[in-house]
Amino acid sequence: MRHGRLMLSAALMLVVMASVPVRAGETPASALERLKAGNARFVRDAASALPIDAEKRQAQLKGQSPFAIVLSCADSRVPPEVIFNAGLGELFVVRTAGSVTDKAVLASVEYGAEHLKTPLLVVMGHESCGAVKAAVETKPGAPTMGPNLDALIGAVRSSFDRLTAPADLEHLRDAILANVEQVVNDILVKSAVVKHLTGAGELQVIGAYYELSTGLVRFSEPVKLATEPAHKESAAHK
Ligand SMILES: [Zn+2]
Repeated sequence: MRHGRLMLSAALMLVVMASVPVRAGETPASALERLKAGNARFVRDAASALPIDAEKRQAQLKGQSPFAIVLSCADSRVPPEVIFNAGLGELFVVRTAGSVTDKAVLASVEYGAEHLKTPLLVVMGHESCGAVKAAVETKPGAPTMGPNLDALIGAVRSSFDRLTAPADLEHLRDAILANVEQVVNDILVKSAVVKHLTGAGELQVIGAYYELSTGLVRFSEPVKLATEPAHKESAAHK
């Protein structure tokens, strides 16, 4: 694991929060520990039963209080609830190919962070990501895959500006981590809500990488922002 590539932009890592508000019954740190513990159960025993039963399902009628938001790839091999051995109502999951963001994705993340008061946002890339692989293999100006896929692949490809290694299949892991870093930064730039909550220490944003081969999820250092004045802007104005 090249930990260096999971370090998020230094410019974002400025100030350590003095106090950590408790949201949804968890702090960002305790939420991260829960994810790590769930992933450890999955790594130990991939067939480990999910903590789900009819009684817990019934209890969900009262509402939801997820402890973490996970933005991951839509890849069928990467289901966050399974990887983190999480039950109903525990994870607020948003998935697109390559974890690429648009307004609907940002709005979903904001809903989880602001309205459900979820204290942790994980942006998770994964080994052998087909979306990143396609971005590596498809050169700009190549025969079109259709306007929607072209736009998605183009968004992934823009993250390769972060690479020091060549954007090729030999360095696919670096490209995947660059994409995670890009998505984290996109969210902080495009979502005033997420930026505010992160700056206020109410939300922690962290990158992650899931290894298909071992089942293990590796996490980056959390993004740290300077504390902002106590006002909220609407992301819609961005
Ligand atoms: Zn993928």
